This record gives sequence, C-alpha cells and structure tokens, in this order.
Amino acid sequence: MEQVITIKLKLFEPTQAKQEMYRAMADRTTDFANQYLALDKQTRPKTSKEAKQYSEPLLSAVLCQAIRDIEGKKKAKEFKRLWPGFNNQNFRVEKEVSKDGGAVWKVSFPTLEKRVGVPVIVTEYQAKRLEQLMAGKAKQGTAYLVKRGKAWYIHLSLTVTVEEEKKPEKYMGIDLGLIDLAVASVNGQTLFFSGGELAYIRRRYANLRRKLQKKRAHRAIKKLADKEHRWVTAVNHLISRKLIDMAILHGATVIRMEDLRSARWTKSQRKEQRQDSGRSLHNWPFYQLQEFIGYKATLAGVKIERVNPDLTSQTCSRCGERVKSRPKSRWFTCPRCKKSKHIDANAADNIAQAISGLAA
Ligand SMILES: [Zn+2]
Repeated sequence: MEQVITIKLKLFEPTQAKQEMYRAMADRTTDFANQYLALDKQTRPKTSKEAKQYSEPLLSAVLCQAIRDIEGKKKAKEFKRLWPGFNNQNFRVEKEVSKDGGAVWKVSFPTLEKRVGVPVIVTEYQAKRLEQLMAGKAKQGTAYLVKRGKAWYIHLSLTVTVEEEKKPEKYMGIDLGLIDLAVASVNGQTLFFSGGELAYIRRRYANLRRKLQKKRAHRAIKKLADKEHRWVTAVNHLISRKLIDMAILHGATVIRMEDLRSARWTKSQRKEQRQDSGRSLHNWPFYQLQEFIGYKATLAGVKIERVNPDLTSQTCSRCGERVKSRPKSRWFTCPRCKKSKHIDANAADNIAQAISGLAA
C-alpha cells in the first residue's frame, strides 16, 4: 500500500545570516502569491517565464510550485504566508557519516542568494524514512521551508510503501451436536450450550405430530409445526448471539464451523452418522443456527470459515493423536498424551485448528 507522509525536519541552529535568507525567501514567495491573487484569472502568469517579472529572483521551479499551491487553495483571498516549496530536482537529502560512525543528515535547497546545505535534527522514525528515500524505497515529493515559532523546518513529503501489518488471525471453533447443541472453543476457553432441552422438545413435538397424523388433523399439524419452528428459531437467535458475544470478547477474528454440506464423509462415516443420533445434524435447526451465526458474525466483522469435519471427534486436540473410532463416552481420553477432554470441546478445538482442512 502506498502512503504519502510528511516528515518535519528541524533545521539545526541556523545562523542569523541563514535565518535572514530563509525569511527573505518566504517573504518573496508570499509577495508573489498575493500579486498573483490580485490579478484576474486571464492575466495570471501561466508559465514560470511569465511569472518571472513578479518574482525575480525566485527560481522557476519554486515559482511553479507556488502557482500550484495557490491554485490549490481556491478560496484564498490573501496569503499571510506561502512557504516556498522545492521539487526533487532542487531539494536534496544527504547523509554524512562522521568518523565516530554517527550519521549527520543534511538537506540542501536554493535560496534567493545561493544554494545552502544545512544539517537537520532527525528522530529515529524520520531517519528510518530517510534511509528508505536513500535506498530508493520512498519517493520524494515537495519539500517546504516553514517557520514554526522561532525555528525553521523542512516539511518533506514522501511516498512510502507500507507493509500492512498482518495481525495473526484468532480462531474460534464451533462444534454442533444434539447432546451439546453448540460448543465453542477459543483461546482454550470453552462455552457449552446444552441441546438437551432442544432434543427433548423436538421429540415431544414429533410425538404430538404422529398422534395428529393418525387423526389426519392437517390444520393442527401445520399449527404445531409453526409453533415448533418459532421456538427453535428463538433458541437459535439466543445461542448465535451468545456465541458471537464470546467471539468478540475473546478477540476472535475468524469463526470456524463444520461444513454440514460436506460430501466428503466416507461411507463408514456416514453410516456412523446415521447410527449415532447425537450427530444427526442434517436437519434444519442446525443449518439455521449456522446461518444465524454467519450473519451475526459478518455484522460484527468476524469472518466465517467452513472446515472439513473429518476426524474432528477422533483426534486429540493437544497432540494430534488419532483414534480409530468416535469415543463412546462423552470424554475423549488421548491414548498418547493422556489428556482427557469433553468430546465436543475437543472437537471444537480441532475445528478451530481446521485439522482436516477448510471445506471446498
Ligand atoms: Zn494427545
């Protein structure tokens, strides 16, 4: 990314004679600006040659810069001060290395009488920028001779390429399941949302539905379905909100979730999915929950990534050891590092790490 910056270099203790030169130069430039402004638009000098009559002995390049600066201030009626500006042909930065290895930065520019070379006071930051300039990594723009208080400065504009600092991403993993509806893991902290109640209520609705179906009570079935839908939606809003709040609280920049659409499951994994009712995610409440998480994350400026869910329940999130099948209990105990962790928290950790890669 290119950026224009201005560095303000203080001229080091100018002598009385030098200060006189600078003042004369600034006065001449200001006088020219006011003469120029006083002319009507048609008669204003267009070239430095035409401008010469108003401004002898200002250099053409300084005149041209002054004209650009005046034209750039459309509303100006009078200039109290117009500081002389030098282009990269007239203004130079030099670095001198003294015998003791220290560096002295100098700038040189034209005045009405002669060209002067003067030392400047440079901060560490400014020195870094000037080094970039010497190395051809920064482009020199206009340099203005400016007085602030009793001191004289050079305001030098530079176009520099700034490397955008890449903050490392912070990942939060969310594992969805029926027993624990959602488990989030970020920074080693875990948040559980029990799905117990949801599963219970959905089962109850399913029973009611079956009874009504036997009676062929179609309108009642529809009403029941609507009621269930509203209830699940409300739960999903609540949970997604809490998950996003947790992401924000922990400074997560990316939320990773299983790709429920993943077609990557092997036959045996799919069979396992069907057998293990706790993992049957293929129903709309889970899709809806992911959707809610997705749009709330986007609003909060948190990115969403879908990960391949393979092996997230069968891998130790600490040491990476893999076990052959999904643990039967609610705890994953690693045969290698002996770490024991709640199975869904372990999975959420693995999802945060995207151990099986991102979903296509
Ligand atoms: Zn382990």
